[in-house]
Amino acid sequence: AKRAGGARHLVFETAMRERAARRADIEAELRLAIEQEQLFVVYQPVVGLLSDGRTDHGAGVEALVRWRHPTRGIVPPVDFITVAEECGLIGPVGDFVLERSCRDFMDWQARLGPAAPRLVAVNLSRAQLGQPGWVDTVHAILCATGMPPGQLQLEVTESLAAQDLDIQQRLHELKALGVKLALDDFGTGYSSLSSLHLLPVDTVKIDRSFVSQADTSNHHRVLIEATVKVAQSLGMLTVAEGIETQSQADVVRAQFCAKGQGYFYSRPLAPDALLDWLASHAAP
Ligand code: C2E
Ligand code: CA
Ligand code: CA
Ligand code: CA
Repeated sequence: AKRAGGARHLVFETAMRERAARRADIEAELRLAIEQEQLFVVYQPVVGLLSDGRTDHGAGVEALVRWRHPTRGIVPPVDFITVAEECGLIGPVGDFVLERSCRDFMDWQARLGPAAPRLVAVNLSRAQLGQPGWVDTVHAILCATGMPPGQLQLEVTESLAAQDLDIQQRLHELKALGVKLALDDFGTGYSSLSSLHLLPVDTVKIDRSFVSQADTSNHHRVLIEATVKVAQSLGMLTVAEGIETQSQADVVRAQFCAKGQGYFYSRPLAPDALLDWLASHAAP
């Protein structure tokens, strides 16, 4: 038993060393990626679920970062955001995404006028919010790009915002700039419906793990319904994330979710493809 344990320990240590080495690789490559502009942003449409049954395709988009790696192809954020946070690179990554998103948003306004998306949502990480002076950076990017603050939505995860007073202070400072705030992945973290009123957020995004079972599980449907009701009573909007089917869309619409997002409407799109998508869904 002792020998087997020793072997297991060795396997474990080797795995740890490999992980650490791989992490160091990613870190070095990510520094280069920022310098060489290998990062880019795709946009997933967020649609309005109107009470008359129609769908508002111009409600907004969410910016999602990607990495065009020279040999590994397109790397998704789950494979580098955490590393970026841990090695102090989330600042440059996050600033890039924010500025790119504001510039693209302004470009759509210039090209499409009233047919352009009315909101762009950008994800934030805890490390960004913790950086002293970061609110000033947001202000500077808004000024430099001409982005109207009320049409920018910054998204923070529920677990991040829940019990951290510094973070809450930072959120109030961002609100004072006039930007919108959303609580992301709602239902997966530690906070609950009863603490929702503590956060200065405009929008609650109901996590995909609830939405994906909205049409098959009564339990999940009831939780969505309760979330929408509490959010509404606090003057907040709700977005259902990860809608993949017509029947999921029908359920969240029937629960009075204000907006929906998911592969059922569109995958995340490059800016050109987004313009095509908007044109193909324009009201006649
Ligand atoms: P998120 O903010 O919850 O974003 C939604 C994720 O769900 C995106 O994955 C999106 O592509 C995916 N998704 C959307 N609709 C569907 C659907 O119908 N089905 C399924 N299965 N998935 C769907 P993505 O782009 O891989 O991003 C993953 C996470 O990485 C994001 O989750 C967000 O937390 C983080 N992230 C993405 N971009 C950024 C960024 O610029 N900065 C920071 N800090 N985090 C980012
Ligand atoms: Ca998000
Ligand atoms: Ca989310
Ligand atoms: Ca998520």
